Amino acid sequence: MKNIIIFGAPGSGKGTYSEEIKNRYGMGHISTGDVLRAAIKNGTELGKIAQGYIDNGQLIPDQLMIDILAKQYDSIAVSGKGVIFDGFPRTIAQADALKQMLAERGHQLGMMIELIVSEDVLMERLLRRAQLEGRADDNEETIRKRFAVYHSQTEPLSKWFAAEGIRHTFDWSVCKTKEGMLEAIFKEIEKENGLGRMV
Ligand code: AMP
Repeated sequence: MKNIIIFGAPGSGKGTYSEEIKNRYGMGHISTGDVLRAAIKNGTELGKIAQGYIDNGQLIPDQLMIDILAKQYDSIAVSGKGVIFDGFPRTIAQADALKQMLAERGHQLGMMIELIVSEDVLMERLLRRAQLEGRADDNEETIRKRFAVYHSQTEPLSKWFAAEGIRHTFDWSVCKTKEGMLEAIFKEIEKENGLGRMV
């Protein structure tokens, strides 16, 4: 399986769709947000550094994230089944580093899946998630900061992936349901991997 980068704003469903793709194709999965939250919970050095940034809706410095990502990748990429990158890259510098890291290992970026969801739907979802999961950064003030960071630092990457010729976009306003999104995403993954139609 080709590597997959799941890309989208906070609340666009990166974690949810990553989980579904992982279960369907038996791929590896790296969620940088989950790695950071686990580090905070366990009180590690990384967790202490990450906490301030996350609580403020800001991004963790690139070099730190790139080092974490490379370590995670090397620990799970051995299966040869492809890896889902969820929440990474979030800046052009991270994308350049990811491309280089993969090339050094004789691997490729694979395909990028962009989830497009309007901001009012995103806000509604994140406030609902706040009630269900109690994530510290899911409050309205921090969510607004995360949207601003997304627009200024992460969204420009969409064009970077388009220039790589690997961007595939999926629009919530067209697919309308989680099932509709999944059907479109699976179909595209199977086309990219020459699997024939399995949905
Ligand atoms: P997520 O769970 O992907 O929404 O990430 C939660 C928070 O973790 C983000 O708002 C950032 O503060 C931090 N984070 C996760 N991934 C990255 C990354 N690739 N680069 C910088 N910060 C990140």
